[in-house]
Amino acid sequence: MYHEVAERSEIDALTRKTQRGYILARDDFEREMELLATAGFHPVSLSNLLGWSRARSTLPPKPIVITFDDGFAGNFRHALPVLARFGFTATFFVVTNKIGDPAMLSWTDLSEMNRHGMSIQSHTANHPLLSTLTQARTREELVVSKQTIEDKLGASVNFLSLPNGDSNPYYVQVAQESGYLGGCCSRFGFNNRSTDPFFWRRIAVKHQTPLRNFEAIVRQDPRTLAILRTTAAAKAAASRLLGKKNYDRLYNLVFGVEDQEKSARP
Ligand SMILES: [Zn+2]
Repeated sequence: MYHEVAERSEIDALTRKTQRGYILARDDFEREMELLATAGFHPVSLSNLLGWSRARSTLPPKPIVITFDDGFAGNFRHALPVLARFGFTATFFVVTNKIGDPAMLSWTDLSEMNRHGMSIQSHTANHPLLSTLTQARTREELVVSKQTIEDKLGASVNFLSLPNGDSNPYYVQVAQESGYLGGCCSRFGFNNRSTDPFFWRRIAVKHQTPLRNFEAIVRQDPRTLAILRTTAAAKAAASRLLGKKNYDRLYNLVFGVEDQEKSARP
């Protein structure tokens, strides 16, 4: 799970738009993609993953799903050329009401990405925490974002990623009724056939993730995974304890993110 990719020199300026931890330097991202290519990984789409999880199709050896949340402009300017260089596909979850805003992707960017074999999927219309929404508002966020992307790009939207990994009791039913086939949360981990397709797990790759950790993650090195899993669990516990909203406020305060209510945050 990625968020923004930027030139190293841009990172300070962009830190005002999102949490620094979520901005990868382009050369770091490139080294990670190179590592995947060298090690023989095959990036696949969520449709491929779903087909496999329903035992309808097979996956190539060493399958991996590369995702990006939020729809930051660097996804087009920096991530796309790197992905294209390696012939990789990735899934970009965009917040439809943020498309075209400063520092965010435009519809022109997205259609170009789509043309290059990238999958554009929903990250809702406004990036709300689902736990704060009624059933009707949940439906609106899911339906509007899906329809907007489908209308603008002429490509089908069947998957979403949950803003901040947050959910509510209506999510799965509403998603299914709105035509979604699956979704990604932010829970740390790998996916297998018994993973609920509406709660596919992911592992965040961050600004400070060293290449050796990235390598250990994709190799599923038990020791590294145990450490990362403990850290993720501690963060989730802190989030529960403080309440999701307060936790994010505190996090943004620590990282100096401005305009936290209005900007599309991870
Ligand atoms: Zn997000």
